[in-house]
Amino acid sequence: MTRGPRKIGFEEMGKMAERSTDVYLPKGGSREVTLCSKCNAFYWNKRWSTDAAALTKAQAEAGTAKAVCPACQRMHDDNPAGVLSLSGDYLLQHENDILNMIKHVEAVTRAKNPLARIMEINQENKVLTISTTDAKLAQKLGRELFKAHKGELHFLWSQADSFVRVNWTR
Ligand SMILES: [Zn+2]
Repeated sequence: MTRGPRKIGFEEMGKMAERSTDVYLPKGGSREVTLCSKCNAFYWNKRWSTDAAALTKAQAEAGTAKAVCPACQRMHDDNPAGVLSLSGDYLLQHENDILNMIKHVEAVTRAKNPLARIMEINQENKVLTISTTDAKLAQKLGRELFKAHKGELHFLWSQADSFVRVNWTR
């Protein structure tokens, strides 16, 4: 099936970080299950899931359209929705703890939203950079880090709220 570049309209209701992945969402109106050919996440009833039993049921009901999900597409395009930069002496002393916490928060978030993923973790010049496929995940990682380890936390949203830069230092 062909998938045109048609954009999805947004409801302008307050500040919604959910818009982060909207540019990549499948267009509306499809009666089929949209199944990601890379990660097997699927879109059905207006949400993404990885529940195998639910997938079998939905496919029997509605058939399948193969596609690439927004998270896989972002990874392929190397186009993160959020980037966290962590720095400071405290970070260096507690790096393992902090990395473990970050991976844990990702796992918990991803269980609810399969499109919220860490793309890459890089370390360069004592700065830890974590890119995510979902702006809300980046925001949440920053918040959880601040809750557990204090420090200084700053969010910088792009104008369209589609991208967030999170800086944490301690
Ligand atoms: Zn995927």
